[in-house]
Formats: sequence, C-alpha cells, structure tokens
Amino acid sequence: MFIDSHCHLSFPELRAQLPEILSAMEQARVERALCICTTLEEFDQVHGLALMHRELWATVGVHPDNEGVYEPSVDELVALAGRPRVVGIGETGLDYYRLGERSVADMEWQRERFRTHIRAARRTDLPLVIHTRQAAVDTLAILREEGASSATGLPVARGVFHCFTETVEVARAALDLGFHISFSGILTFKNAVDLQEVARFVPLDRCLIETDSPYLAPVPFRGKTNSPAWVPLVARRLAELKRLEVEVVGAATRANTLALFGAMAGA
Ligand SMILES: [Zn+2]
Ligand SMILES: [Zn+2]
Repeated sequence: MFIDSHCHLSFPELRAQLPEILSAMEQARVERALCICTTLEEFDQVHGLALMHRELWATVGVHPDNEGVYEPSVDELVALAGRPRVVGIGETGLDYYRLGERSVADMEWQRERFRTHIRAARRTDLPLVIHTRQAAVDTLAILREEGASSATGLPVARGVFHCFTETVEVARAALDLGFHISFSGILTFKNAVDLQEVARFVPLDRCLIETDSPYLAPVPFRGKTNSPAWVPLVARRLAELKRLEVEVVGAATRANTLALFGAMAGA
C-alpha cells in the first residue's frame, strides 16, 4: 500500500478526471492522498474533496508563490484547520525562484506569511507542509526562530519539506529540526544525481513520497499530467537507491505519513 503525501487534485485538469484517478489509485494500491491547499480561495474545493472521498484528506494554507490572493491571519488558519479531515498547515514556505526585478529584501511579505503559518501550526499542533526553493537558508532560519521558541509554551513546529530538491546539508538541518523529507518524481529523473544522493542519506523512517500532481510526473511518464496513481514509481526509485524492496519503502513511507499527519490514520 502507498500514500501520496502531496497532490493538487483540486486543480482543474485533475478535478475533471477525478473518477478515473480514484480508480487508477485503487488499482495501483495507492490507498490515500493528501490534497494540498494553495490559496484560501481554493480551500473549499480542496476541503470538499476530502469530505466527499474517503481516500482523500486536506491541508489549509497559502503557497508562497501566490500573490494578490487573500492573506490569512493566524486565527483564520487555525479556524479552518479545525474543520474535519484537515490534517496539516500549508503549503507554505519561501520561494525566491521567481524574484524577477525584486531582491530577497523585497520578499518580506513572503517571510511574514510563512511566520503566520508556523504560528498556526504550533497553535493547532498540526504538521507544516513546507515548500522551499532557492531559499533554504532563510527557510531554516525562520523555522529555528519561529518554530522552536519555548517562550510561547506551544509545541515545537514539525512537518515535512515537500518535493525536496536541496542538498544533503539542508536535509541534515531539516532532520535536526525534527522535520521529514518528501521525495517526488524528480527522484526518477536521470540527471537528478545530487537528489539521489540525498535520498540515500535520509533515514527511511524520515522519508515521505509524493507526486505533487499535476506536476513532475515520474519516468516513464515525464512531461505528462501527473496523478497520485503514479506515486509507486517514486517508491520504486527510492527503494532502488536504498537497496530495499519497494514493498518495504511503500510500507515505511505510508507509516511515516500516517504518524506525521495523525488524523489521516482514521477512516
Ligand atoms: Zn510546492
Ligand atoms: Zn504543491
């Protein structure tokens, strides 16, 4: 059995295919998938999927790349996180890839949004789904500052670095903070040699797998519209790299996902 820990089934190209995707998941023994929220405008659709389908769960959050969208407060995130079948906060984090004309200093709004999500995660004791791209130093620094201060009396922030594409050093720092690392279809790409090294390094009990559908379809479907039914291909590649059976990696990543997103373990 497999779990896809990160997908966007609310996006139109996947939503239109939902019956086919759910049956393909069943055939591929992908028993659950976590539908990730990227704007509050989208939340009702993401949440609706989780309410309507027993295989699906939801998160609440605003992706760092989304500008000109509703900016949530901590209280609003906490309230939405209290809805049934909402099991995590995100995706959130930092993304300096699309700076354009701007400097890193201009991205204070993104760092502030990230802090808001961390505060909500600590207040609800739900895991964070973290997106970081060309911003690892700041992502880790903010997590250390905002996620671990004991002055608040709140639980320390925990969660997953999703679609990991950073170095072994960044992985080690994330693991030291108690976070999990999630691998996507990128792991199956021939040129992803550095990432394959990271996958050998991260202990199996801290690994998750995901598709990030509709993006990043694994080999041999690279370039196509991705679906949670293809997450076993990520498991298979991770198993090869770790010299394990795919069943072992499927079971371990499934158990890790259920332990992290506790409510997902329910019916
Ligand atoms: Zn992401
Ligand atoms: Zn995503």
